[in-house]
Amino acid sequence: QKRIKISDLLKEAPIGKEVTVMGWVRTFRNNQFISMNDGSTINNLQAVVDFQQMPEETLRKITTGSCLSVTGVVVESLGKGQSIEVKVKDLEIFGEADPEKFPLQPKKHSLEFLREIAHLRVRTSTFGAIYRIRHSMIYAVHSFFHERGFYNIHTPIITGSDAEGAGEMFRVTTLDPANPPMDENGFVDFREDFFEKETNLTVSGQLEVETACLALSDVYTFGPTFRAENSNTSRHLAEFWMIEPEVAFCDLEGLMDLAEDFVKYLTRYALEHCAGDLEFLENRLLEEDKSKPQQERSTMTLTERLRFVSENEFERLSYTDAIEILRNSKPNKKKKFQYLIEGWGSDLQSEHERYLVEKHFQKPVILFNYPKNIKAFYMRQNEDGKTVAAMDVLFPGIGEIIGGSQREERLDVLQERIAEMNIPEKDLWWYLELRKFGTAPHSGFGLGFERLIQFVCGMGNIRDVIPFPRTPGNAEF
Ligand code: ATP
Ligand code: MG
Ligand code: MG
Ligand code: MG
Repeated sequence: QKRIKISDLLKEAPIGKEVTVMGWVRTFRNNQFISMNDGSTINNLQAVVDFQQMPEETLRKITTGSCLSVTGVVVESLGKGQSIEVKVKDLEIFGEADPEKFPLQPKKHSLEFLREIAHLRVRTSTFGAIYRIRHSMIYAVHSFFHERGFYNIHTPIITGSDAEGAGEMFRVTTLDPANPPMDENGFVDFREDFFEKETNLTVSGQLEVETACLALSDVYTFGPTFRAENSNTSRHLAEFWMIEPEVAFCDLEGLMDLAEDFVKYLTRYALEHCAGDLEFLENRLLEEDKSKPQQERSTMTLTERLRFVSENEFERLSYTDAIEILRNSKPNKKKKFQYLIEGWGSDLQSEHERYLVEKHFQKPVILFNYPKNIKAFYMRQNEDGKTVAAMDVLFPGIGEIIGGSQREERLDVLQERIAEMNIPEKDLWWYLELRKFGTAPHSGFGLGFERLIQFVCGMGNIRDVIPFPRTPGNAEF
């Protein structure tokens, strides 16, 4: 008999019909009630066995984590929280799970523990919900851009340009690390490497996607990016996915509008299409909150937070105005921010970002016009000579979720800047040619996909929103 997915079965509720369902056992109570899940929905299906009809041998194999197929008639359920159940006629065990050894017994497991068994944590309700939401968000990203006439461009994963990432790059090489060829000066000779030069995994597809924007106008890339981040934080991965739109004939103002529309679209999409999974995660957070002291509990539920973001205008203010606010603020009653000492020109720390978003404005904030000395070479210089047309979108609980800018389209200004920053012009010859031949004003940003998922799912640690997190020392599977 053909298999039906649990999501379809619960939706159709074909009372009186015989069906076959396959999935993994969550619990088995009283030798009678199997709660099973096949990943198609957060909801489990109850299958009821008649233990007097079933061989002892089979009953013993129905344990948490085992995989099976049941066939039986759909009946109305008297149990609370479910409308239908399946009265089992035939049952086949695909795979047993020794209760002495299977680590996911039905109790609450800490996220830290689950991180060590990434190959099994996907079987839990929490991770099932997160990965389904992740999928929906990928879909929403593409539909947002498709609806607006953007083209998706694949940018390279192995790159020969290292103008940006410098110390954060992962080298790609086929040379023997134990015995590399040496050049006349005693350095590793990359001319003998596969690509005949030094190559790295990409830290961003921006420079490459700019080329497409200066021909197709509205483009985006959505691919994996790699950064050898030496910091162990709850917001950084060594391998993460980034969405980078690049738009011709667009200034900073237009870019901020696009960024705001984009995240609003994504949060709205989650509310409309992931309701069941969000409700589960929301309850999980409420449960977690109960064990915290009053002042650390969240003031909004997960869905309230998503609705708030999708419905309210973000605050926009310049870096200079933000510094003024931070200078005059007293985050800890007596103690002021370090900013009094460091002053204008230094980068914001995450505590400053969080103060602006969570305390001062209590909504998402877009900061713009940053000092040029803390930003990349390609950002467009403003008239004041001190700032660039850059913007960061800051979110509650996350901090920076988007970073972007209007790009420097003027060849002479760009050349001057890369000289100031000691970047060899020959590494960027092709990038400079874009400004030589038919240059145009254009802007773009990068949204960290996992930071978005963190926000949508209400997860505190970025390692819990990607199936196989890559962090320092962690590449087991
Ligand atoms: P941060 O200040 O948090 O280190 P960044 O300014 O270095 O971020 P950008 O180069 O601006 O990051 O990259 C664009 C976006 O990519 C960021 O706004 C963020 O959402 C995301 N991002 C950056 N680094 C990481 C990382 N290591 N892991 C996951 N997401 C990241
Ligand atoms: Mg960084
Ligand atoms: Mg940053
Ligand atoms: Mg940034």
